[in-house]
Order: sequence, then C-alpha cells, then structure tokens
Amino acid sequence: MLDNFLELFIPGPTNIDGEIAKYLCKPSIGHRSGQFSEIFAETDKNLKQLLYTQNRIFHLTCAATGAWEAAVLNSVGKGVLHVVNGAFSEKWAKISKICNKNTEILELDWGKAPKPEQIREKLLSGKFDTVAFVHNETSTGAMANLQELSEMLREFPEVLVLVDAVSSMMGTKIEIDKLGIDVCLASLQKAWALPPGYALVSVSEKAMQRSKSLTNKGHYFDFEVYEEFYTKNQTPYTPSLPHLYALLAQSERFLKEGPENRFARHKKMAEITRKWVSDNGFALFSEEGYHSETLTCVKNTREIDVEQTAKILKTKGYLFDKGYGKIKGKTFRIAHMGETDVEKLGKFLFELAKAIG
Ligand SMILES: *Cc1c(COP(=O)(O)O)cnc(C)c1O
Repeated sequence: MLDNFLELFIPGPTNIDGEIAKYLCKPSIGHRSGQFSEIFAETDKNLKQLLYTQNRIFHLTCAATGAWEAAVLNSVGKGVLHVVNGAFSEKWAKISKICNKNTEILELDWGKAPKPEQIREKLLSGKFDTVAFVHNETSTGAMANLQELSEMLREFPEVLVLVDAVSSMMGTKIEIDKLGIDVCLASLQKAWALPPGYALVSVSEKAMQRSKSLTNKGHYFDFEVYEEFYTKNQTPYTPSLPHLYALLAQSERFLKEGPENRFARHKKMAEITRKWVSDNGFALFSEEGYHSETLTCVKNTREIDVEQTAKILKTKGYLFDKGYGKIKGKTFRIAHMGETDVEKLGKFLFELAKAIG
C-alpha cells in the first residue's frame, strides 16, 4: 500500500522532488531554540523575495482551509464581499458565514473571472470593509487578472483585499506589495510542490491594524498572537518542522532556478496544454483571456468516459483528474504546476490522447 505511487497530474497535491523530500525526515529540533529561529528567519527572507513583499508572512500548520478562516476572522468587521465563481470561492464564502460575518456574494458563472467593474459597483455601497476572491479558481481553470483588479481596488483604501492564491502562488508571478494585497494565502501542496498541511499567509500593516481592532477571533488563528512570535522568528505553537525544513530547501531551490524561469515554465506548459486541447477536439472551460497558467480545465465536448480514461491512465502510472464539484465529468483538468516540466507533460498528454482513443 505504501510502496506504489502514481505520478500526479491532478491540481493538488502535486509531485514532490526527490531531493526536497529528504528534508522531510530531518531530526526534530526545539521550536524555541536558536537553530529554529535561524531556519525561520532564513526562510522568511527567501519568502519575501519570492512573493515580492515586505509584509509579515505567518506560517500556519493547517490546510489552506484554516488560512481562509484565519483571513476572515482577522479582517472582517463591517462586512465582506465574496466573489464566487467556482467550488473553492464558494467554500470560502461559506466559512465567512459560519464565522458569523456579514457576508454578501457576488455570484459569477463558473469559468468566468471577476471584472473590476463588477466588484467596484458592490463596494460603492459602502457596506464592506473586506473583499475576498480566489486568484486561480482550481475548479474551473479561470485565473483573475490581479493587475486590473488592484488598480480598481486602490479607490477603496478602507477595504482590505484578501486573496486565495492556493493554486497560483509560485506558479505565476504575484507581486503582493505592488498589487496591494492585504492578506494573501496559500497552502504548500500545489505550485509549491510540498506536502499538504501547511499554509503561508502574508499580512499587511493595514490588515494587522484591522485584526487588532477586532474581537472573537478565536485563538489558534489570531494574527496578534502570530505577530508576537513572528518578531522572534518563531511560531506561536509547535509547527510542522518537516514542512519548514522542506520549505527552506524549496525556497532556496526556487531562487536558484530563478522565479521568473519557474513562472515561464508554467506558462509554456499551459500553452502546450491548450494547444493539445484544441488539437484533440476539446474546448477550454475557462473564459477567454483568463485561462489559468497552472492548470487547464477542459470542457468534455467529446463526452469521453472520464472514469474509463482514469482507469487506463492508472495502468500507465498516472493519476488523472475527472473534474471537480458540479462540473465533474462535464470537464476534466490537467495540472501543469510544481515540478512538472515540458517533457513530463508531453508524455502525459500523449498517453491521455491514446487513452481517449
Ligand atoms: C486546493 C485549494 C484550496 C484548499 O486547500 P486545502 O489546503 O486543501 O485546504 C483552497 N483554494 C484553492 C483555490 C485550492 O485550489
């Protein structure tokens, strides 16, 4: 059971590089030791460079779902506007409601990306002090244009901008400070190509001040507590040390590869995949002009049997994605993020075409 693994072409979790995996079994250290603080500080320095930010970056030992909850609990006072354009953005909005936040949903058709005008119109009501959206909707393959959204959001300096970058962080360039993102979150099992169970959250000074003004934040996710320990290069609670070791190693590797080269590789793979889609008589599910660079969601126009396709690909050593949420089977997704490269992708697409017949 634990010696037979498939190569993953699903949009998370993704394959882990063999050299990086070795860091997951290093010995434990005390999380209040000087050695820990050195590791944390070095990682923080790398992260700031890779994420183009001077903001504090908190490490949460939890899935991105926990980071969603943290973002909402620490940011929303008056009310939050959630853009919902797929399964993940829908789940995030649900969490705001469960946390008793005044929540309004801007609902878009699945596959569409949010446009500045749509959000602007809602924010002009003055009902919101927070806006939340998913950068790269993993269920539909639609990627928002952060540049055009951020230009509009500058008109609303009192509104905190929360961005889920779970399936895009390190897959495409996100200049957090230039874009004015107050809270940017991601777990590590997607474009970071590390194991699931650990999340990063960048928090602006404005977001930190908002957190201080709020109550009922719970305890595990209170940014004020994280801040207190962050200044000592620590986390408030014992974090997943294996993740931290591997994150340091991976961040060093990314800086060596050059983040720009990494992003270009993802973009190139996206182009190859889109060409495969049209060459094989399929169509893209996501809106034109907003196709994701880390995964491609394919409209199943040929009505292939996705279950059968997955079975055949399994015999070739691959895990194939059969679509997500309400569009499962009507779509399938091809991930091209993390450690996947043009050669591996080419082999997979060849086998996929053969399996479809
Ligand atoms: C995978 C994913 C999540 C959930 O991540 P977990 O770490 O499993 O909680 C959230 N948002 C997006 C966009 C995702 O792709």
